[in-house]
Amino acid sequence: MPGKALTEERLRAYIKCSQLFHYGGTESGSLSNRMAQYTAEYYLAASLRSSTRDRAYLLTRALLQASKACELDTKYLAGQSVQMATQTTLWMDEYWKIFGTDMYLPVTGPLPWRAKVSKSRIDLQISGVLRTKKNQTLHVLSFTPYMDRHSQVNDPITHLKLNAMKKFVRSHPGRPRAILHLLWAYPNGRLGYDHVTEDSLNPKYLDLIKAKVEELERDSHFPVLPCKYSCPFKTKCFPGEDK
Ligand code: SF4
Repeated sequence: MPGKALTEERLRAYIKCSQLFHYGGTESGSLSNRMAQYTAEYYLAASLRSSTRDRAYLLTRALLQASKACELDTKYLAGQSVQMATQTTLWMDEYWKIFGTDMYLPVTGPLPWRAKVSKSRIDLQISGVLRTKKNQTLHVLSFTPYMDRHSQVNDPITHLKLNAMKKFVRSHPGRPRAILHLLWAYPNGRLGYDHVTEDSLNPKYLDLIKAKVEELERDSHFPVLPCKYSCPFKTKCFPGEDK
């Protein structure tokens, strides 16, 4: 069986329900989440390029680019777009309280990170990498579509990122090589934040992810029974059922 090229959203969809993956579904974050992610990423990239520009200028540019990426102008009413931009500005304000330049120095903006699992490649989204003046620990920014710790630490993408990060810094007794900072936006736009280190990495879980990807490569798919998800493909799987 040939390998597949997968995104985070598609692999999450397969793990949630192989039939959802087969129908082309994804498991991705909310609009608030995507706006926060794109804004933080554009801001970080722009601040690395033009460090002399002030924060308000860079934020306005980042918000404009994020609005375009989320198609706010074409898919949403003007009032909704303004509300989303305001929420994202407040989100960024909370973000700077945690990742301000007094504590963290940017190393790089968003970067593609490709993990190989079985014969497939998974494109992981790293939103940026920071470090402190204190030590070499890498601080990796990563957005998650989940709002509870249980789902976040059981997310295969979290494990693949933790596993990939291990290779970048030499181990040092007494401190983690890298910290994966998980970020998300609540429906009201407030910032959600938690972090994990390689201590949360379970090698058995990596074997399970590999087994799932091998199943995906064989194109094995079937509906979840019983299916409790709200899903756009409900009537395809269970004709006569509502969402
Ligand atoms: S309705 Fe349920 S079983 Fe069918 S694709 Fe969606 S999540 Fe999977």
